[in-house]
Amino acid sequence: MHNVIIIGSGPAGLTAAVYTARANLSPLMIEGSQAGGQLTLTTDVENFPGFPQGIMGPQLIQDMRAQAERFGTAFQTADVTKVDLNQRPFAVTINDEETVHARSLIVSTGASANLLGLDSESRLLGHGVSTCATCDGFFFRGQPIAVIGGGDSAMEEATFLTKFASHVTIVHRRDKLRASKIMQDKALKNEKISFRWNSVVEDMLGDDVVTGLRLRDSVTNDTTTLDCKGVFVAIGHTPNTRIFRGQIEMDANGYIQTSHGTATNVPGVFAAGDVQDPHYRQAITAAGTGCMAAIDAERFLEAEG
Ligand code: NAP
Repeated sequence: MHNVIIIGSGPAGLTAAVYTARANLSPLMIEGSQAGGQLTLTTDVENFPGFPQGIMGPQLIQDMRAQAERFGTAFQTADVTKVDLNQRPFAVTINDEETVHARSLIVSTGASANLLGLDSESRLLGHGVSTCATCDGFFFRGQPIAVIGGGDSAMEEATFLTKFASHVTIVHRRDKLRASKIMQDKALKNEKISFRWNSVVEDMLGDDVVTGLRLRDSVTNDTTTLDCKGVFVAIGHTPNTRIFRGQIEMDANGYIQTSHGTATNVPGVFAAGDVQDPHYRQAITAAGTGCMAAIDAERFLEAEG
């Protein structure tokens, strides 16, 4: 029987681990098979306070993990395959093999940026390919950038990136945007943004870093090359909430709904980080809500005696 089980090991989960461990709750963290989350897929992190020279994403995660371990967090590198939140203590099944129980749960399973699925995209991720303009836009000062997608995220990221880029090209697979009118207008009016309509990304070019995109026109079938140094894939995110469906309240897109801090609709279950945040999606906001979830869980356990 555990006081608290933390599911997910990005900055939200690891911060919750530091706090609950220091509160003598002996947390168990189930890390998942992609331990460390989205920060492990990035290179330089320059916007996490406390690192004036920046820090590599995987290093930041490794340091947070060491900090959580130092105060007594137990780790299990495995996937949670099932949860039963209808009974207390909660039952958490690991790798379909073992079931552990907890008085409280912190869900910090994150969200995954949707990707196109090209081999070149995964090879160049963190080397010119990014899924976060706020995080990585600064690295492409004075360079041409491409943004993939036609929704609000693509418009928002493209508009934001014009602060840094010499030019931004939005590459969209159709000739109509999905984005809201106001966001479309902003992008369409921006002189630093141009559009490549009906364009499918066939390949991302470059050996070590991105040099361009190979695009196919879905109407004419012509293939062209678009030179760019950065590629921002903005085709949506998917929160990692499949195992909680039907047990925790979520919004229409599958993000866990929280109120009064990090409480979910199930007493004793708290959610932190991107799994409950479709808006900010930053390492520092994830860490902040991880701290909140730990304090919420501690107070819940105290109140339960
Ligand atoms: P989204 O609305 O689902 O748009 C995804 C875009 O990516 C669509 O244009 C889609 O093309 C394209 N796409 C999807 N899969 C693709 C693929 N395999 N290859 C090429 N293109 C692909 O996602 P989002 O823009 O991330 O927005 C998610 C939600 O957050 C929305 O409700 C949005 O309104 C909201 N949001 C709001 C704001 C804001 O108000 N400030 C900012 C960001 C997001 P098709 O159009 O052809 O399907």
